[in-house]
Order: sequence, then structure tokens, then C-alpha cells
Amino acid sequence: MSQNYVLSAKNLTKIYKKKSSKSVIALDNLNLEVKPGEIFGLLGPNGAGKSTFINILGGTCIKTSGKVNVWGFDLDKNPRQCKASIGIVPQEINVDPFFSPRKLLDLQAGLYGVKKEDRITDTILKLVSLKEQKDSYTRSLSGGMKRRLLIAKALVHQPPIIILDEPTAGVDVQQRKDLWDNLRLLNNQGVTIILTTHYLIEAEEMCNRIGIINNGKLVALDSTKNLLDKIQSKRVTFLINKKITLNKSILSDLNILSNTDNELKISYDKSKIKLDKIINLIQSQNIEIIDIISDDGSLEDVFFKLTNE
Ligand code: ADP
Ligand code: MG
Repeated sequence: MSQNYVLSAKNLTKIYKKKSSKSVIALDNLNLEVKPGEIFGLLGPNGAGKSTFINILGGTCIKTSGKVNVWGFDLDKNPRQCKASIGIVPQEINVDPFFSPRKLLDLQAGLYGVKKEDRITDTILKLVSLKEQKDSYTRSLSGGMKRRLLIAKALVHQPPIIILDEPTAGVDVQQRKDLWDNLRLLNNQGVTIILTTHYLIEAEEMCNRIGIINNGKLVALDSTKNLLDKIQSKRVTFLINKKITLNKSILSDLNILSNTDNELKISYDKSKIKLDKIINLIQSQNIEIIDIISDDGSLEDVFFKLTNE
């Protein structure tokens, strides 16, 4: 591949035309690129267009306009190669209840033209911790197991890119942890991972880079660290031994949550003011700082700032 990305969308637009009502612009000139080997998070509230994007990549939704490139293949010119380069784990659980996991994986491998001798069914079942259940009826599996089976299905043709649409919806804490472990394992083997979520904590935990979409438009795209650094608001409580007098110049940059004889609680934008300026101000008034409790804001702050405008 000549590009330094494994997947890209250029001016990608999807308009759902409805006969009875107004048409819906689900993707509105979306531009983004995914780099090799990264874990990329596509974040956005419900209805933002995340599943539409993924379904276009998977070929189950036809784009209205724009370009998509997967693993060096143009979606319009080489749809089959595009499809072969990605494994998609859909948002909805849709597995045939009457087949066993092993049978389902074999069928899926057949669908992708993977020869019997090239199949890695057992390895995949082990990876998603379904080895013991490999011959059970799928309908007898728990919700979490079914979701893991969907991941297994996406892996049969050993694609270099795995895409998961809201992989932890309805999954409990332990299963979520296992899932992340599995995905990290795959990622360490060089698989690029793209996941969508509307849980920011997940994106923070897992992703190297994050794109945020709202109403089909990209509203932010950066490394997780930069996103957090850039727009994060910080909340700090100072335990002090007497009340501080705040002057106008500093008040314009601070949001005072409480200011009493023994406590100053503030929130502020990290890009506007540095913590040592506040500490200097306190100390310049001969006030003793007994303790500092800081509470970093999360992507939640970023998210609401960006999507509520
Ligand atoms: P997300 O996955 O981020 O929740 P979706 O891609 O499912 O968002 O939906 C984006 C927008 O497109 C929403 O307004 C949704 O109602 C609309 N939409 C999704 N699928 C269809 C469809 N098959 N027909 C009409 N509108 C749809
Ligand atoms: Mg969705």
C-alpha cells in the first residue's frame, strides 16, 4: 500500500430518502482517515451516523456520494476487495440460533472462500473464549457469548481491519474487560481496530485516536491525549486555612464552585489558565494550602461542548 492510511472517507454523504416523510442526511461530507495499526474510536450520540458509516463499509448500505478507500481499494471499483479487507461486527446480534459456533464459523469461512486447510476456526474460538461452547446450539449462549461469536465471525478471513459497532452495548463489566483484552491482543498482532461507541470512557480507555461525529458531520478528530488536553476542563479543590480574595482579572478565567474559609473549589479551562497561577495567587495572600484535590474532566465535557453547539 502506498498510502499511510488503511481506510479513508472523502466527502462521504448518505441521504436516506423516505417516501412518506422528509429525507434524512445521515452522513454529511464526512472526511476521515484511519492509520495502520491504530485503535480508532468513532464517537457520537445516537443517530449521529456511526452505523450508517459502518454499513457503507460493509456494503449493506449504499452511499449517496463521496469516496471510500479500504486497504488501498476504492469501494466503487473494487467492492469485493474492500469487503475482504475488513471484518465487521454489527451492532445488532444476528446469529442463526440453530447452528453451533463451530458450524457458523465454517459457514462464514465458506462464504468468504477460505479453503478448509486455511481455516483457523479453533484459534478464533479460543481467542473469543468460546472453545468450550463450540458445539453448543448458539441459542443456548448468553448475550455476551453471542456478541463474542459475532467477533469470531468477523475474523474468519483474517482481515487486517476489524470494525465493531457499539461492541459493549448490553455487555457487563467483566465481559467488557475480556473484550478489550481480546481486541488488544488482535491489535498487538497488527490488526487495525475501529470501534464506535457513545460511551466516552470506552474511547478514552481503548483508542489511540478519536473522531467525533454529530448529525453526520465530523466535529473533532485528534489523538485521545490531544483531545483531552485541548478541551478538557479541570476541577480542583484547595483545602486552605483562610478565605481567599479573588480579583477580577483571575475571576474571568475561573468558575468558582465554592469559596469558604477552608475550601476553594474551582473549575477552569486548562488552555486558558495554569494551575501554578492559581497556587501563586493563594500563596501571595499568605494562605496555607493544606491539600489539593484535582478531578480531571473527561471526554464527556468535550463531547457535550462539541455536540451541543
Ligand atoms: P448511529 O449509529 O450513530 O446511532 P445511524 O447511522 O443509525 O446513527 O443513524 C443516522 C441517522 O440516519 C438517524 O437519523 C437515523 O434515524 C437515520 N437512519 C438510519 N438508518 C436508516 C434507514 N434505514 N432509513 C432511514 N433512516 C435511517
Ligand atoms: Mg448505531
